[in-house]
Amino acid sequence: MEDITLILLAAGSSTRFGMGTKKQWLYQGTRPLWQKVADDFDAAFDFAKVIVVGSGDEIAYMQLFGAYEVVAGGNSRQESLRNALALVKTPYVLVSDVARCCLDLPMIERVIAHKKSADCIVPTLGVVDTLYVEDEAVDRDRARLIQTPQLSRTDALRRAVVAETDYTDESSAIRAVDGSIHFVEGSSQAHKLTRPADLGRLPCLIPPDQGSFTGYGIDIHPFEEGKTMKLCGVTIESPVGFKAHSDGDVAIHALIDALMGAAGMGDIGELFPDTDVAYADADSTVLLAEVVRRIRAVGFTIRHVDVTVLAQTPRLLPYKSAMRARLSRLLHLPLPRINLKATTAEKLGFVGRKEGVTVHATATLNYFDWTKVSA
Ligand code: MG
Repeated sequence: MEDITLILLAAGSSTRFGMGTKKQWLYQGTRPLWQKVADDFDAAFDFAKVIVVGSGDEIAYMQLFGAYEVVAGGNSRQESLRNALALVKTPYVLVSDVARCCLDLPMIERVIAHKKSADCIVPTLGVVDTLYVEDEAVDRDRARLIQTPQLSRTDALRRAVVAETDYTDESSAIRAVDGSIHFVEGSSQAHKLTRPADLGRLPCLIPPDQGSFTGYGIDIHPFEEGKTMKLCGVTIESPVGFKAHSDGDVAIHALIDALMGAAGMGDIGELFPDTDVAYADADSTVLLAEVVRRIRAVGFTIRHVDVTVLAQTPRLLPYKSAMRARLSRLLHLPLPRINLKATTAEKLGFVGRKEGVTVHATATLNYFDWTKVSA
């Protein structure tokens, strides 16, 4: 199968599965769904190359998973296909959506076996129910349900996806430029993962691994006269604030690094560079909310955080409950799962000399348990 490239579309922004997790990131054991589907294709067929199309802001993270070439999708299916096709060197291309997550191998073999029959090879199903178009009954024997994956001649698909119209499959794009279509028998077993209710209908899905992930973060900021002091998003009564590019919320910065560490996402500087004017005086709670959104989107649930503020001054006891409450809302985490500690440095070092503050934080995540999503 040296003449076929697989394109797996996994750039959807679907968040219909609760907790803000996208369907391509519903974990199957220790692998996200997109990787399981790519691995299943890869194990069954000897493609020249497998290209996975992901969301632009997840590409760097997806690349960490290794195995496959990952390319950024566009704003539409058509644009995503165009981006992927730019990397295809084979005469044929098989396109599949990550939502078709349980592979029907005999059906895919039928599609591939007919590769020379037309510009696009399409699995279809006959219609068994009575069929109306608007208020008119039509002859169901002449109707077909179109399925995927479909195999296309690369040059024909390249011509077809130049169009701005966003077609829902390759066959309609190729028909629109007068390409030829060949139908093969589809499969009534080939369900698609669209809604939470579909999860129970897809026999190949397995629950996420129960393991947990711990991340650690540390941040240090010196005091600066005349600046407002923020810790955990709460304003602290103090003659000094923190010297920083952002609002200097050293506690939130340490916490962001702990969360990113647990998710394997690198560090705060990679996401929000302090050379970027966009983050000048940035509200750190907004940065934390963005990190939380990303972590949940890629399949994690935050379970626990522990923050230790090392400060000779100010005294934080009067602010602790407000700080925990703020974190609870930002992290979507119940209060008992948020621990906050404040300690002095016994007058030692730069903290003891009241020159600045150090914060240490840990965060614990596990995979979002989609098996508990109610349909
Ligand atoms: Mg910082």
